[in-house]
Amino acid sequence: MKANKFLKFGLALMLTLNLASVEAQQYGETMKDKRILISGAGIAGFTLAYWLKQRGFSPTIIEKYPHVRGGGYKVDVRGTALEVAKRMGIYEDLLEANVNLAGSKFVSSDAKVFEFEGDILGHSSIGEIEINRWDLAQILSKKVGEIEIIYGDSITKIDEKMVYFEKMEPREFDIVVGADGQYSNVRRLAFGEDSKFLRRYGIQFCVFPIPNIFELERCEIVYFDNGKLVTAYAVGDHSYACLAYKSEDQAPSPNKALFEKQFQGLDWEVPRLISLMKESNDCYFNSIAQVRMPSWSKGRVVLIGDAAHSVQAMGTSLCMVDGYVLAREIAESNGDYALAFERYEKTMRKVVETSQDLAETNQQAFTDSSMRMKFQLYLMKILPKRIIQYFTEKGKKQMKEVANALTLEPIPKMTQKPSDRQD
Ligand SMILES: Cc1cc2nc3c(=O)[nH]c(=O)nc-3n(C[C@H](O)[C@H](O)[C@H](O)COP(=O)(O)OP(=O)(O)OC[C@H]3O[C@@H](n4cnc5c(N)ncnc54)[C@H](O)[C@@H]3O)c2cc1C
Repeated sequence: MKANKFLKFGLALMLTLNLASVEAQQYGETMKDKRILISGAGIAGFTLAYWLKQRGFSPTIIEKYPHVRGGGYKVDVRGTALEVAKRMGIYEDLLEANVNLAGSKFVSSDAKVFEFEGDILGHSSIGEIEINRWDLAQILSKKVGEIEIIYGDSITKIDEKMVYFEKMEPREFDIVVGADGQYSNVRRLAFGEDSKFLRRYGIQFCVFPIPNIFELERCEIVYFDNGKLVTAYAVGDHSYACLAYKSEDQAPSPNKALFEKQFQGLDWEVPRLISLMKESNDCYFNSIAQVRMPSWSKGRVVLIGDAAHSVQAMGTSLCMVDGYVLAREIAESNGDYALAFERYEKTMRKVVETSQDLAETNQQAFTDSSMRMKFQLYLMKILPKRIIQYFTEKGKKQMKEVANALTLEPIPKMTQKPSDRQD
């Protein structure tokens, strides 16, 4: 009796294994052999690499820096991106690293300090996560595990078959993914100059680590003067500052000297922060801009994250969802990458455009008048708390709706064929 049961179990197991291998041949093999190159070891690049690996691919990442880039201010993970994080098994890690600010301090140009409870400047609603960018990059890179990452090199040319590099010998790749940020190198090579796609708002910023000179704990401090903005925050031993200014100068790569010039003559702690910026070897410079493109793919090249559609406040979340969706479509297109790219774009475009439109409306104008700013701060101080809350929550609610606009398909059962998918 027992032997009979055992035999039945063995037969069932063999049948299952056999079916699985037939299924792998039918749906996987053709695509799994595809060589996929991802440019950029950032949030988008790592998320995509993880999901491609999960689907049986062995992607290669190329990163122009000699290591995963550290640094950065806090960024938001919200809406559908939280579902992606849950499916990756990193949600608990993100929760643990949640910045969760308890207070904000505003300093006017005459050094008056206005204190508020909670995260007045942040965009996160309850249930969403705000995290140091560096923590997020580390969590993702750890989760990806073993893959080929080429550091310190960059793509110079992509032709029909080959990809050429600054240092390495040319190599063959079937798909090239640009996940290399707002000023994407792959986008420039495949689609043309930045000016065709960048919508700039004339705000330059620089983020760098500082010692906790303001003695903050789970708190952000903000200083406005004459169209210049200084912010800093600290959580545990992580303390960062950001300097921002508005300028008509379209230079895509502002530098320390430019920032020093712009902030010259300002009071408060600004001179000290400028010295810290000058000493820092970990400054991240960027400008506030949106990338808007009519299409995110061309031939075998496809863009994700900021490279395709950078947007304020939603960029990190969208790029994680991009990574999930693109990997799914590549895996399920049976070698037809044009179809994969088309389906990826069809899924993402609406939510991206709604986010970009909302961000543009919310774009906070840099005030040139310190008096006006001071008046607004006084107003915030004298108005009842619930009125302030009403206005801050209203903005956050809109953002939350957009962030949740895309629902991912349920996790497919192992026996379900890709062609059975319902979404
Ligand atoms: C160091 C750093 C700090 C940041 N700090 C902030 C911040 O404080 N606030 C904020 O809102 N956003 C910040 N961002 C941007 C934010 O991470 C993105 O807006 C968002 O997460 C979308 O991510 P992404 O992966 O598309 O692009 P990114 O996070 O920008 O990643 C792009 C990656 O591509 C790499 N790369 C660039 N050029 C090439 C090339 N030629 N070849 C190969 N690799 C290349 C970059 O080094 C980077 O690792 C920062 C980005 C970086 C890289």
